[in-house]
Amino acid sequence: MTQKPEITANAIYKVTDKVTHETYWYVPSDSKPGVYYKVCWSREATRWTCTCKAGQYGQACKHEHAAQVSIVVNKEQELLARSQEPYLPPLPTDQKGLLHSASGKVFNLLK
Ligand SMILES: [Zn+2]
Repeated sequence: MTQKPEITANAIYKVTDKVTHETYWYVPSDSKPGVYYKVCWSREATRWTCTCKAGQYGQACKHEHAAQVSIVVNKEQELLARSQEPYLPPLPTDQKGLLHSASGKVFNLLK
């Protein structure tokens, strides 16, 4: 078996069916340009399915793997984006609603 380059997560399209709310992924074929395989999680069979040849025989294929990787990557990016949000402490205001900045300037928040 020859080692083929991994399918990059960027090339995968996540699709949610508006009617059934089913989520599936379109993963590009390595060997056939412009061909996409539909990968989805089958709740009944509790396993991944793919429309490629291997997937049709019930084998775990790289498209299923790529879809799973893209989920993990997206989750990590989401967590990363959240953790990078700056923490904003409550602004110190006095009773008149005036904000005192560290430089001594006073901003009126009640405009
Ligand atoms: Zn496949």
